[in-house]
Amino acid sequence: MCCGETEATAAAARGPPPHVALLSSPGMGHVAPLAELARRLHDAHGFTVTVLTYASSDSAAQRAFLASLPPAVGAASLPAVPLGDLPAGAAIETLLSVEAQRSVPALTAVLAGLKSTTNLVAFVADLFGADTLRAARDAGVPGYLFFPSNLLMLSLMLHLPRLDAEDAAEFRDLPGPVRLPGCVPVPGADILQPLQDRASDAYRWMVHHGERYRDAAGILVNTFDAVEPGAAAVLRQPEPWRPPVYPIGPVTRQATDGAAADATGCIDWLDAQPERSVLFVSFGSGGALSTAQTRELARGLELSGHRFLWVVRSPSDGGANPGESYYDGSRSKDDPRRFLPPGFAERTKALGHVVPSWAPQTRVLAHRATKAMLTHCGWNSVLESLAAGVPMIAWPLYAEQRENAVMLCEETKVALRPEVGGADGCLILAGDIAEVVKEMMDGEKGEAARAKVAELKAAAASGLEPGGASYETLAKVVSDWKAASGPS
Ligand code: UDP
Repeated sequence: MCCGETEATAAAARGPPPHVALLSSPGMGHVAPLAELARRLHDAHGFTVTVLTYASSDSAAQRAFLASLPPAVGAASLPAVPLGDLPAGAAIETLLSVEAQRSVPALTAVLAGLKSTTNLVAFVADLFGADTLRAARDAGVPGYLFFPSNLLMLSLMLHLPRLDAEDAAEFRDLPGPVRLPGCVPVPGADILQPLQDRASDAYRWMVHHGERYRDAAGILVNTFDAVEPGAAAVLRQPEPWRPPVYPIGPVTRQATDGAAADATGCIDWLDAQPERSVLFVSFGSGGALSTAQTRELARGLELSGHRFLWVVRSPSDGGANPGESYYDGSRSKDDPRRFLPPGFAERTKALGHVVPSWAPQTRVLAHRATKAMLTHCGWNSVLESLAAGVPMIAWPLYAEQRENAVMLCEETKVALRPEVGGADGCLILAGDIAEVVKEMMDGEKGEAARAKVAELKAAAASGLEPGGASYETLAKVVSDWKAASGPS
């Protein structure tokens, strides 16, 4: 600054700060990482940000979460669009895709408004939002995607239009595993659940998104090189047929988020437990087990004899889709504890704590008493677990979780997976649950996973420091945005 020049005149000369609009698909698993990206763009790179959400995801929990962001990060909800013409029971992928497509006119108006009132330099949508990149073009700013899953899943999406054209068989009927460049081979049956039925609307939507991803100016990915080094080496190379790919993660919520209020009692309970003694059991914001599987899990935890903290949700017997809690995971109509086996609470009270529907997960994972997590392998939960140095038992339910489980068990080697058996071949039995819990908490395989996860925790932290791969990758994108918008 020149002599005598005030901070205010310097700021006026610099012009308004760069502004970016981020559009999140419904679901806390989508909103939370984008909000965290917004915080990072503000804190490390001086941006102001608008986080846009859809009317269907509006909930008290989401509003409270967005209101807790720094003042330079605003939030706005796009107006509701009619979805009543979609068939009852439409897949979540279809609902999210149609809502995005029908919201383009409203989004175009919002971006035009931001363009006239802020120094808007870029627009970022997430995995179901490729159709909304049109609105960025109309606003004259580059349209990027933020992919909240990993490079394995992104690679599948980018190759999907080709795979769809080349082979008419269902993935689960393929003779060998699906091999994507640099990625762990994935058995067809473990491929993304909506891709398991080529005749479904959800399948067609995913192929459509894979095609539209090519319209993005770049794809930011919530992963980091050390967790999937082979895929990172391939996808970090530019290719003419796809946008540049930028691993910038882990972008996860801070363990201090919501630290003031823990009405669930989880933290108080953990405070009273010995160091590294507890298995945390959680199936994300929408995952629910069948009634039979819920009872089997209860029996398995009891049989293991280990301490556990279990976020129980009311069972869903309608298949592997997310339960009705998808749009607001903190809400539950019934007390799910009534689905547990008779006498379970009494028999396990010395070792276990059951909390209905929701726990402060990042705080639980960071707690000194937590030793491992049994998880549905939602990617945010995986990243939070890695960032906290907590190894996993992989219990995938839907979406891309089975792919994630393959990667975590076979490639990254930070998770163990129980046998799936039962009379119908799709139940995990109490005895097998107890076995995998004992192995994770006391066995050699658990110890090996713990050592590997400690390495990844350190890699995740150093990657996010200035000079680290993820930090510098985001810095490069940010400097491209600023350069494209010209001197302010
Ligand atoms: N979450 C939480 N408490 C819960 C369940 C979930 O805080 O009881 C958070 C979790 O920390 C993560 C997100 O909700 O940030 C779930 O995202 P993920 O991708 O793991 O799974 P999804 O909910 O999208 O299936």
